[in-house]
Amino acid sequence: MQRLAKVGAGPSQADAPPVGGSEPGLRARGANSVGAGATAQGRRQPSSEWRFHRDIYAARPEAGAILHAHAPFATALACQSIELPPFHYMIARFGGDSVRCARYATFGTQELSDAMLDALRERRACLMAHHGMAVFGADLKEALALAVELESLCEQYWRVLQLGAPILLPADEMARVIEKFRAYGRQD
Ligand SMILES: [Zn+2]
Repeated sequence: MQRLAKVGAGPSQADAPPVGGSEPGLRARGANSVGAGATAQGRRQPSSEWRFHRDIYAARPEAGAILHAHAPFATALACQSIELPPFHYMIARFGGDSVRCARYATFGTQELSDAMLDALRERRACLMAHHGMAVFGADLKEALALAVELESLCEQYWRVLQLGAPILLPADEMARVIEKFRAYGRQD
């Protein structure tokens, strides 16, 4: 799992986890700073996935922390290119009436970053075909909470699929729930 917040950097710069950056106790000083020109600073080589960290921070100013993981249920659905439809109202927490699955591209490539930005339109989470998932939040705490929620929803949807065709919430109800989540967020 890679989770690291943007630390004191503008949209032209992102902090990326180092290779193997999943170890417990990773701190900001262990991160690599990657500039818009793809120049890396730090004691260790940045993760091969620094491109999508940089591009999400640049494209989505509300992103303060990005979490990328190969969580089992999210990855299982992503390996079948299954997106999450509105089978449960909590899907709205991610910004819309679905969580899309980004098309497959080789890890670490600009093509993968582009596919993710496309899947993240008006969303703060996406699955990644044959790969895993990514979420972003205002800070690390929110990103982690969203990642746990997404993995839970993926497990629930995996179970629902075994019961037959999923029964989905109608568009007008999802619009209502999305607005409630927006209003809830504004109270903070
Ligand atoms: Zn990955």
